[in-house]
Amino acid sequence: MELKKTLTMPRGTFPMRANLPTKEPAYVLQWHQIGLYQQLLKHNEGKPAFYLHDGPPYANNEIHAGHALNKILKDIILRSKNLEGYYVPYTPGWDCHGLPIELCVTKSGVDRRTTPPAVFRKKCAQYALGQVDRQRQQMLTLGVLGDYDHPYLTLNHDYESHQVEIFRDMALQGLIYKGLKPVNWSPSSESALAEAEIEYKDVVAKTIFVRFKVTTGNSIVKPGDFFVIWTTTPWTLPANLGICLNPRMTYGLFKTEIGNLVLLKDLALSLQMKLGLAKMTLLKEFKGTDVEKVVCKHPFIDRDSLVMVDDYVTSDSGTGCVHIAPGHGLDDYRVGKKYGLPPLCPVDEKGYMTKEAGESLAGLFYEEANDKVIEILKANGSLLLEEDITHSYPHDWRTKKPTIFRATAQWFCSVDKIKDKLLKEADTVNFLPSWGKVRLKNMLANRDDWCISRQRLWGVPIPIFYGEDGEPLMDKKLFDHVIELFKENGSDIWYEKEAKDLLPDRYTNPHSPHGLFTKEKDIMDVWFDSGSSFNGSDIALGHPFPADVYLEGNDQYRGWYNSSMILSVATTGKAPYKQIITHGFLVDQNGEKFSKSKKNGIDPVTICKTFGADILRLWTTSIDYSTAEIKLTQQLLQIVSEQYKKIRNTFKFMLTNLMDDDEGHGFDTSYVPTALDFTNQLMLNKLKVVLATMKKDYDTYNFSGVTDTLTNFFVNDLSSFYLDFSKDTLYCEKKDSILRRNTQYVLYTIAKSIDIAFSPILCFTCEEIYSYLNIKDKKVSVSLEKYPSLGEEDLNLTKDYQLLVDLRNHVNALVEPVRASGVIGSNSEAEVFYKPVSADEKALIEKLGNKEVSRILIVSGFELASENKVVKHSGTKCDRCWNYFDDIHEVNGNHLCSRCLDAVKDLPLDPVQGESK
Ligand SMILES: [Zn+2]
Repeated sequence: MELKKTLTMPRGTFPMRANLPTKEPAYVLQWHQIGLYQQLLKHNEGKPAFYLHDGPPYANNEIHAGHALNKILKDIILRSKNLEGYYVPYTPGWDCHGLPIELCVTKSGVDRRTTPPAVFRKKCAQYALGQVDRQRQQMLTLGVLGDYDHPYLTLNHDYESHQVEIFRDMALQGLIYKGLKPVNWSPSSESALAEAEIEYKDVVAKTIFVRFKVTTGNSIVKPGDFFVIWTTTPWTLPANLGICLNPRMTYGLFKTEIGNLVLLKDLALSLQMKLGLAKMTLLKEFKGTDVEKVVCKHPFIDRDSLVMVDDYVTSDSGTGCVHIAPGHGLDDYRVGKKYGLPPLCPVDEKGYMTKEAGESLAGLFYEEANDKVIEILKANGSLLLEEDITHSYPHDWRTKKPTIFRATAQWFCSVDKIKDKLLKEADTVNFLPSWGKVRLKNMLANRDDWCISRQRLWGVPIPIFYGEDGEPLMDKKLFDHVIELFKENGSDIWYEKEAKDLLPDRYTNPHSPHGLFTKEKDIMDVWFDSGSSFNGSDIALGHPFPADVYLEGNDQYRGWYNSSMILSVATTGKAPYKQIITHGFLVDQNGEKFSKSKKNGIDPVTICKTFGADILRLWTTSIDYSTAEIKLTQQLLQIVSEQYKKIRNTFKFMLTNLMDDDEGHGFDTSYVPTALDFTNQLMLNKLKVVLATMKKDYDTYNFSGVTDTLTNFFVNDLSSFYLDFSKDTLYCEKKDSILRRNTQYVLYTIAKSIDIAFSPILCFTCEEIYSYLNIKDKKVSVSLEKYPSLGEEDLNLTKDYQLLVDLRNHVNALVEPVRASGVIGSNSEAEVFYKPVSADEKALIEKLGNKEVSRILIVSGFELASENKVVKHSGTKCDRCWNYFDDIHEVNGNHLCSRCLDAVKDLPLDPVQGESK
């Protein structure tokens, strides 16, 4: 028999090639078939709950790498909490209403204007559900677990009724009101437009410079002086309520032949030429803020025009004095609001001037009003100059006609009234990263009242009835009735029935003496939909509230974190989350954001098909997800693949060394060592430290820490140390020698516990490894195991382990030059005489014994000495284990050491000169 055949070499079928793209879908199917998510819930029923509330992605298009990052991070948290024995419900959600879906349905050939609303909405719902299905399939390929068969959808009947509950509770507290606000308005289609429905085209516009006479001055400007404004939309002048200056920029009062004029000092020279003024003498110089609240007279309407200041005023064009018509522009509206000016809008929905614009303008189409306004200004001497410019102007994408800003009635949520409470609640929340607290608080503090109405069809209708006098009826009975109707039928019923059929039986209200009612046509902002999810999902489904964690991209401080906070505080008095975790955005190798138009994104589904989802999951733990910009490139995925191979191969080594023969005999996993040798004690203690470190990193959501700890352990402690020196033991010792069994015991313990501990990250691979582990009491999935706990770390053993690692480094540093010089061919030829660097090191060596130290250091001899010295071992090489010995046995022409002789003595030996390992 050949000596080689007397060695116990690694065995088994665990494949080195992962083949993830083929294997992963089978696991997804298997988990679904065994109902793994439901089993986990049952498994941990009655234990403390951990609840992560899913932020609903928008139900449109394929999932992108950002979704994948988000869902994988959530899944790692959920899986790790399950292992730790928490009860972990998780209901994924989708945001299903809104304009992008309306636009997709319109683009597919459905005309919103001619299709009955209820029919159009059915098509939107169909489209959204199709998108949900597609995204769900794609998400599942990432290996995520959750109640994917019963997600919360913002179009579900239950969800809509819970959303109206929130609206009701806020309305009854006086937190919902109707007011005016300018919106993009298309006179040609008589409707409000969203930004996405607007195209910009170059047009020639009439611009005018107009002077406004001061009536109430101050120490700087006097009655009779003028402010000069410039506008590209003369027809908005009838709606002028003020003039806005930049508070910090420098203005001048200039003496000219047409009066004393106020304008931005830097623009004076160019304006003098433009206006053709002979002289312009600077009388006074001041900041915008110095003339705040001066009052001028409207140039042709008997009305004041207030001088205001705001930072949005720039020195790019005009005069630095901006005409403010709060009913015709968003900045105008905002500035006007600050000074208590109403959004006056003397233009009707068809674009015609109303009586409020003055007798000579009333009834004119707004474009015709331009000429009339110029004529009036010319006649009364207020017009300083009229000129044509070409500029880019918004147009209705369907009718191709110009659009205007027009104040219309909108519904608002009063943020002001609850702002103090919002800020107080934000203080109770934990943030990761910690700067999130300031970000969220700033967003909340600076937030204006929230305009929650949209002039669209695809959404939850604003559930308001009006009396005959036009009064919106804030009546609990009405809201409760609508909530029941929506629960039963969904909100489509609002469009399928008339107002009278949506009221409770025999409903009366003093605002409708004749029993006539109308209903609101607007729908709610989609942020009201998703912001209601704490009620629509958590409270409704009996999930814990507030949620332990919300985890989304860092843009959600402005979005979902914000709207959820407002709606939750308004109705429950509490923040909906205990902790907010955010991640950044993905960029390509040049640091550019992934975008559809640039085609620079990497599609997660393709990654799963080429690399495998586990590679993508491992990648999410290779980054600091909290940084603003996260790189994802093919090259990085390649690097992560290499890292994956190392992890897999280390597992393979451990698994294949647990077998003793091809018949499946091997390590009995019920084996408990009676007295574990010191070296293996050190390894098990090291494993305890690794497991505890990984757990701490899971608990602080530091997933790159988990992977770093594992990789270090596998590469530095196992591959290049423990497993390396254990090869001799595993291959050459008698199969059932105590040292070999103890080593197998340690291998098994490491493989099993690390497999479980790392399964939240490499969910597929760890499931595969689990299937190869010969575990008593095996579960149907590694996920149903408990996070391994091997007891408390022994600090003395930790210290000794470090001493041992250092000793190895010291000795290697001595052996290496001797090997390089050719005196010895390999470490196993070396005999080392060693002078310890410390008393502790000496004590450790004495504790281990020279023979054990030789085994660990893979040298053939080791002795304590007063001088360091490495020599070639003077003994003979054992033909079986290749170590050198002074006492060697010659058997049938083979040289065998005592250990090897003992290992083979019961085997029939062949006289053939044996080859060895
Ligand atoms: Zn030997």
